[in-house]
Amino acid sequence: MSDQNPVFIPGPTNIPDRLRRAMMVQTQDHRAPDFVETFAPVLEKSKRVFGTTQGTVITFPASGTGGWEAAISNTLSPGDKVLIARYGMFSHRWIDLCQRHGLDVEVIETPWGQGAPAARFEERLTADKEHAIKAVLVTHNETATGVKSDIAAVRAAMDAANHPALLLVDAVSSLASMPFEMDQWGVDICVSGSQKGFMLATGMAILAVSPKALAAMESAKLHRTFFDFRDMMKANATGGFPYTPPLQLIYGLRESLAMLEEEGLENVYARHTHLAEGVRQAVRAWGLRLVAESPDLYSDTVSAIYVPEGFDSNALTDHAFHRYGVSFGIGLGEMNGKAFRIGHLGSLTEPMVLSGLATIEMAMADLGYPIRLGSGLAAAQEHFRSAHSIPSQSAA
Ligand SMILES: *Cc1c(COP(=O)(O)O)cnc(C)c1O
Repeated sequence: MSDQNPVFIPGPTNIPDRLRRAMMVQTQDHRAPDFVETFAPVLEKSKRVFGTTQGTVITFPASGTGGWEAAISNTLSPGDKVLIARYGMFSHRWIDLCQRHGLDVEVIETPWGQGAPAARFEERLTADKEHAIKAVLVTHNETATGVKSDIAAVRAAMDAANHPALLLVDAVSSLASMPFEMDQWGVDICVSGSQKGFMLATGMAILAVSPKALAAMESAKLHRTFFDFRDMMKANATGGFPYTPPLQLIYGLRESLAMLEEEGLENVYARHTHLAEGVRQAVRAWGLRLVAESPDLYSDTVSAIYVPEGFDSNALTDHAFHRYGVSFGIGLGEMNGKAFRIGHLGSLTEPMVLSGLATIEMAMADLGYPIRLGSGLAAAQEHFRSAHSIPSQSAA
């Protein structure tokens, strides 16, 4: 089995050689002056990816889950009401985390395959005359279903209800792959991580925090020590860290930001759309169905695909792994056994996507799926050939 085979899971994503080299550095003293020179510009440069000039970027040595915890524990108090919709495994996990922290979580159950229900949020917020709801939580890209939510629409709903709640957004599987406009959308905290769009190893939660969220922090009473924004910001102000920083990831992030900038963020987003569309054309040609219910919900970073009736998606992903040495995403939660996922984010090119489509096609054919070998591949090939060429095919 070759470690040259790309992974087609929606994170952690393939790490380009350039970033693997950037992370391969010897131990350095994080209290030495050169650490300041390395770290401070990285925080500053990250802002562009979040689409913020007013926000503060804060990182922790953690996975994305730690970012969720940091977001709520710094802005909310025990018993505070928060509003969130459940439409996949990741929104579900954030709900669970909030409940375990003693928040009063009002959940809007939403069919898996749909996104954040802005209209229902608006109804609920309009009815909340006392402003008991302190925060609205949204998973921008539900990685379990391949559904993208419209954050601008959620902001518009909050504004229409004239509601002062914070807007906290999980963009772990969308940031640096799909457009994110923190300032424009009035997002108060955006949570991300190193191992998806940033194409790095796992281990760094990366957040951007609005001035309004920082103001809320002053009265927030949930317990926090390791994830306290105040300690982090105080140390960051002089270019330092309140404890030992994940140095290798900081070097990695510096290089990742340079790569994103060289390709151009707009081109990065266009590449993701282009590759995602190739995958969707393949799904159509196979005669299979996406979990995402309509084109406005299609994620450009991951596609969740129902297997035909009578087939087990776990058997398919297992077979692809054991026979061909390639990982695809399994169906999570309600989707377990019913759908598999193709991750198409991060460091990815047309030929890489084609190799994934060819592989899953072989796996499906091996297991007797009613698909014609080569059909999805040809559809993606046609899309890639006919769509106008995208820049930086070799750089990513
Ligand atoms: C990957 C992911 C997370 C974070 O998961 P970790 O395993 O803790 O990094 C959170 N939300 C979404 C939408 C994700 O895709």
